[in-house]
Amino acid sequence: MAPQHFLVVVFPGQGHINPARALAERLVRAMPGAHVTLSAAVSAHRLMFPSLESPDEEVHDGAISYIPYSDGYDRGFRLFAGDGDDARRYSEAFARVGRETFSAVLDRLAARSQPVTCVVYAMLMWWAAEVARERGLPRALYWNQPATMLAVYYHYLHGYERIVMEHAAEPGFTVAMPSLPPMAIRDLPSFFTNLTDGRLVSSFDNIRRTFQQLDLDAAISSGGRKPTVLVNTVEALELGALASVPELDMFPVGPAVLSLFADGTRSGVGAVVGDLFEHDEKGYIEWLDTKLARSVVYVSFGSMSAASKRQKEEMKRGLAASGKFYLWVVRKDSRDDNDDDKDDERSIVVEWCDQVQVLSHPAVGCFITHCGWNSTLESVACGVPVVGVPQWSDQDTNARLVIEWGIGARATIDADRFLEAKELTRCVEMVMGDTYEGVAIRSSSIAWKAKVQEAINDGGSSEHNLTTFQYQFANDA
Ligand code: UDP
Repeated sequence: MAPQHFLVVVFPGQGHINPARALAERLVRAMPGAHVTLSAAVSAHRLMFPSLESPDEEVHDGAISYIPYSDGYDRGFRLFAGDGDDARRYSEAFARVGRETFSAVLDRLAARSQPVTCVVYAMLMWWAAEVARERGLPRALYWNQPATMLAVYYHYLHGYERIVMEHAAEPGFTVAMPSLPPMAIRDLPSFFTNLTDGRLVSSFDNIRRTFQQLDLDAAISSGGRKPTVLVNTVEALELGALASVPELDMFPVGPAVLSLFADGTRSGVGAVVGDLFEHDEKGYIEWLDTKLARSVVYVSFGSMSAASKRQKEEMKRGLAASGKFYLWVVRKDSRDDNDDDKDDERSIVVEWCDQVQVLSHPAVGCFITHCGWNSTLESVACGVPVVGVPQWSDQDTNARLVIEWGIGARATIDADRFLEAKELTRCVEMVMGDTYEGVAIRSSSIAWKAKVQEAINDGGSSEHNLTTFQYQFANDA
């Protein structure tokens, strides 16, 4: 068999880079001799490798290389720091400059006799699929949200848009899509109901275009081969959703959590690649070490969402009323002047932490999260119950899954997504308390953790699906 070279191309956000890194690591482990090139935009690459002489310098680490493309914003773009016009301008450059520089990466690799045998384009990277198609390269979508979300978008864009639009102002109205439980409008992505915020409209446009690529591939497929999608989920978690779109060949290969796979035998991933945010030097793990099992609440809203000053103060009141210890991530870019973020005897506030290490710590008993998909899946993988406070995009749907799996509570928030202190306290008490509900939530969390571990063990479903995907493409090459 010819040596396989997977080119994984990814959007420059932390929530996209993390699962791409985990996938890269697993692809090289599952197939001896395989090489993976991970291509993120320069804005992310330079933060992952801060010591490079030039921000776009290539990095080679054994079987994994890192070669960036440019999206025209090499110093970065923050969606929520600007308005709809900024987002539109970014999307235009992302596609135009991205396509050009990504093509150059492919040319460079071919010229050095390392031709790419399969392009794995992560969600939003629709133009990379176009480039792959133009060059006749095999390709697969890497969907880094749940299969439920993939199915919901697919059906929305294939016949259900009208009914959703007609009822967009009725949060309780339910829509029944094939093989999915009835979904209330409030459980669907915020893109379906907020049509006025240009930042959301731009983001959704890149998702729509991702699905158009799948349709194009389905239309030109010969021999009945369906478009291939790797999904960052676990079969047992989403059986219905995985069966909901028979038009696609879905491979559930999650959870894409790097530290579950990296065993430190290679020098690189994990050792040389950093996050897009600087880790806080405060000794938060040592602080957790001093706490009793399951006694600490961990609070984080991921890499993009930010709580307003008023919301932070309200949450602080709610956490204080719960009487629990808490570790809270407030990113540097989301701090306000005069934030009252001093540590005290019950709390520690950090700018950025190693989240999976925190969730794996025995002292952590509850995760207050915005329900980004990585955070949600990491909680499942670590067996930590969740209080979901969804903010935008797929997060309402993910919070609904948390309830379906019985692993947490979904906080009631108002139309502006404001969470009141007493509601926060109620949810924390429910998840961590000794009531019937709390005990049931903790026992479901432990049961799902075991199922997820089973999926990634030798012979488990995710391992099996990844190998099947990989050898299928190798045989085609
Ligand atoms: N994360 C982290 N440290 C932090 C906060 C977040 O390592 O202090 C990681 C977290 O483990 C997850 C990612 O950042 O893998 C956030 O992705 P998610 O999909 O949850 O949310 P997003 O940032 O995309 O909104």
